[in-house]
Amino acid sequence: MVSLMTDLSLTISDARCNPCCICGGKSSIVGLYIPYNQHSVDAPEGKTRMFLYTLCERCFNDDMSAPMVEYKVQKSFEARHN
Ligand SMILES: [Zn+2]
Repeated sequence: MVSLMTDLSLTISDARCNPCCICGGKSSIVGLYIPYNQHSVDAPEGKTRMFLYTLCERCFNDDMSAPMVEYKVQKSFEARHN
Protein backbone atom coordinates (compact mmCIF):
# COMPACT_ATOMS: atom_id res chain seq x y z
CA MET A 1 0.00 0.00 0.00
CA VAL A 2 2.77 2.41 0.91
CA SER A 3 4.65 1.75 -2.32
CA LEU A 4 1.45 2.12 -4.31
CA MET A 5 0.97 5.58 -2.78
CA THR A 6 4.58 6.48 -3.55
CA ASP A 7 4.13 5.37 -7.15
CA LEU A 8 0.96 7.39 -7.41
CA SER A 9 2.48 10.57 -6.03
CA LEU A 10 5.49 10.16 -8.35
CA THR A 11 3.12 9.73 -11.26
CA ILE A 12 1.23 12.83 -10.17
CA SER A 13 4.36 14.94 -9.96
CA ASP A 14 5.38 13.69 -13.43
CA ALA A 15 1.92 14.53 -14.75
CA ARG A 16 2.19 18.06 -13.37
CA CYS A 17 4.78 18.78 -16.09
CA ASN A 18 2.26 18.01 -18.84
CA PRO A 19 0.42 20.86 -20.53
CA CYS A 20 -3.29 21.45 -19.99
CA CYS A 21 -5.07 18.60 -21.78
CA ILE A 22 -7.69 20.95 -23.21
CA CYS A 23 -5.91 24.12 -24.34
CA GLY A 24 -2.25 23.06 -24.17
CA GLY A 25 -1.43 25.88 -21.77
CA LYS A 26 0.61 25.64 -18.58
CA SER A 27 -1.22 23.28 -16.24
CA SER A 28 -1.67 23.79 -12.53
CA ILE A 29 -4.19 21.09 -11.65
CA VAL A 30 -3.81 17.32 -11.80
CA GLY A 31 -7.02 15.30 -11.81
CA LEU A 32 -7.90 11.66 -11.80
CA TYR A 33 -10.56 10.47 -14.20
CA ILE A 34 -12.20 7.10 -13.51
CA PRO A 35 -14.49 6.17 -16.40
CA TYR A 36 -17.92 5.03 -15.29
CA ASN A 37 -18.05 2.62 -18.20
CA GLN A 38 -14.92 0.52 -17.59
CA HIS A 39 -15.70 -1.62 -20.65
CA SER A 40 -15.15 1.41 -22.86
CA VAL A 41 -11.52 1.57 -21.69
CA ASP A 42 -10.98 -2.15 -21.89
CA ALA A 43 -10.42 -2.67 -18.15
CA PRO A 44 -9.54 -6.25 -17.18
CA GLU A 45 -12.19 -8.05 -15.12
CA GLY A 46 -12.09 -6.88 -11.49
CA LYS A 47 -9.73 -3.96 -12.23
CA THR A 48 -10.43 -0.28 -12.49
CA ARG A 49 -8.65 1.75 -15.12
CA MET A 50 -7.86 5.34 -14.11
CA PHE A 51 -6.42 8.23 -16.04
CA LEU A 52 -4.45 11.22 -14.80
CA TYR A 53 -5.04 14.48 -16.61
CA THR A 54 -3.79 18.02 -16.23
CA LEU A 55 -5.66 21.29 -16.55
CA CYS A 56 -4.77 24.96 -16.39
CA GLU A 57 -6.66 27.20 -13.96
CA ARG A 58 -8.82 28.68 -16.74
CA CYS A 59 -10.01 25.32 -18.14
CA PHE A 60 -10.50 23.94 -14.63
CA ASN A 61 -12.97 26.75 -13.93
CA ASP A 62 -14.81 26.15 -17.20
CA ASP A 63 -18.08 24.22 -16.82
CA MET A 64 -17.30 22.33 -20.00
CA SER A 65 -14.02 20.93 -18.69
CA ALA A 66 -15.48 17.70 -17.25
CA PRO A 67 -17.07 16.45 -20.51
CA MET A 68 -14.04 17.70 -22.45
CA VAL A 69 -11.64 15.73 -20.23
CA GLU A 70 -13.83 12.66 -20.59
CA TYR A 71 -13.83 13.02 -24.37
CA LYS A 72 -10.05 13.63 -24.59
CA VAL A 73 -9.19 10.69 -22.33
CA GLN A 74 -11.45 8.38 -24.33
CA LYS A 75 -9.97 9.56 -27.63
CA SER A 76 -6.36 9.24 -26.50
CA PHE A 77 -7.10 5.80 -25.08
CA GLU A 78 -8.59 4.70 -28.41
CA ALA A 79 -5.66 6.17 -30.34
CA ARG A 80 -3.21 4.16 -28.24
CA HIS A 81 -5.14 0.91 -28.46
CA ASN A 82 -6.23 0.81 -32.08
ZN1 LIG B 1 -6.33 24.94 -20.39
